Amino acid sequence: MKIAVIGAGIIGVTTAYELASDGHEVTVLERRGAAAEETSFANAGIVAPGYVTPWAAPQMRAKVLQHLFSRYAPVKVGLPLSGRDLAWMWKWYRACKLDTYLSNRAHLQRLAFYSRERLHYITADLKLDYDRSDGYMVLLRSEKDSKGMQPGLQVLRDAGVAFREIDAVEARKIETALNPDTAFFGAVHLPDDEVGNCRQFALMLKNEAQRLGVKFSFNTTVTQVRPSDGIALDVAGDNTPRQYDAAVMCAGLDSARLLRPLGLKIPLAAVYGYSVSATIREPLNGPRSAVMDEHYKVAISRLGNRVRVAGSAEIGGSPDKKRANSLQLLYKVLHDWFPGAANLSNGVQEWKGARPMLPDGPPILGASGIAGLWLNLGHGSSGWALSCGSARVLADLLGGRAPDLDVTGFGVERLNR
Ligand SMILES: Cc1cc2nc3c(=O)[nH]c(=O)nc-3n(C[C@H](O)[C@H](O)[C@H](O)COP(=O)(O)OP(=O)(O)OC[C@H]3O[C@@H](n4cnc5c(N)ncnc54)[C@H](O)[C@@H]3O)c2cc1C
Repeated sequence: MKIAVIGAGIIGVTTAYELASDGHEVTVLERRGAAAEETSFANAGIVAPGYVTPWAAPQMRAKVLQHLFSRYAPVKVGLPLSGRDLAWMWKWYRACKLDTYLSNRAHLQRLAFYSRERLHYITADLKLDYDRSDGYMVLLRSEKDSKGMQPGLQVLRDAGVAFREIDAVEARKIETALNPDTAFFGAVHLPDDEVGNCRQFALMLKNEAQRLGVKFSFNTTVTQVRPSDGIALDVAGDNTPRQYDAAVMCAGLDSARLLRPLGLKIPLAAVYGYSVSATIREPLNGPRSAVMDEHYKVAISRLGNRVRVAGSAEIGGSPDKKRANSLQLLYKVLHDWFPGAANLSNGVQEWKGARPMLPDGPPILGASGIAGLWLNLGHGSSGWALSCGSARVLADLLGGRAPDLDVTGFGVERLNR
């Protein structure tokens, strides 16, 4: 089949690769000049399937309210809030109900474990050599943080995830550069989880997809999607529409705008986060892999010769305006745990990205209900961790095969209830 993939973030690139592997003729249309220039650009890179849980969770209602007014809040409501943001928050609030949360969590984790398997398979099969490290550690500043973790640890147990609760002395043996002056209660170590450079992986996989015949059309903005003997795509600056047998929507946040004229109302909100990336100044002072400061919900990742600090969740506001407090928090957390690790005097990259978040958690994978139009979108805070599995599932569904994964809970119809 002749298939268009709209968007070349991590979701679009993995989708194009899987479709081309199945023998389809694939073109990726991307408005930017390169792949992975938007949300897939500088994320934390963590692949920890046991931690892939919906943002809509019973305890989150209170957490969001509690953090609204604190200075270094991991969750923030930015102004202005649009009517759509408010409608999204109401849907999110309703999805926080315990039974809804539990079933969404089960769907997400199923996909996350499958996705990690696919990531490992693709990496080994294609011998992709991107920056990555094994192991993930959650740092607990206080006994209170440790107590707050216990329900999450039960989730890991239920999912069969290997982890150990360790004290600070042992944590320092694993991450040897942890600041000796920062006292902390303990940590949870997950040896099978990992961190990897999402953008680098996307660029490498794009090259592999090209080898399979995928065409990447950059600087190409899709303005309208129309069902017409397959799918017709209007492109900015073109006089005639581009015609395909099918199209897969992987346009991240912009997907909702493109789908609305077709009667598909997808409640996607931008949940903004920040990262700071800098070169390692002294490798002995840097993290070996990834750690998460549980109190501030800030991740510090080692990505080759760079260190990346990422966190914050901000609903509302604008993509261009960076909140000084959010960035300061990242520097503070880096300094608390790994002082002197990064070269902060020049070449520091400060980035703000928009997580394409659905109110209930799982992404939308599969048919749209419009002939020829398929959806792979709404991966929220875990798009890198979910990408390879989502792409394989989508390619199977589009090809009329039963995926290896039970796809209950990923259909678009759930959002119309
Ligand atoms: C601070 C932060 C930390 C994160 N940490 C992690 C993490 O540790 N682990 C993890 O798994 N995930 C993490 N994420 C989430 C992850 O980055 C996202 O879920 C993922 O990048 C989404 O990928 P995507 O391909 O859907 O979107 P994008 O990367 O945004 O790609 C969409 C693409 O579509 C293109 N596009 C849009 N509209 C059009 C159009 N009309 N025509 C043509 N092209 C179009 C865009 O230019 C873009 O390239 C984090 C996110 C943030 C912000």
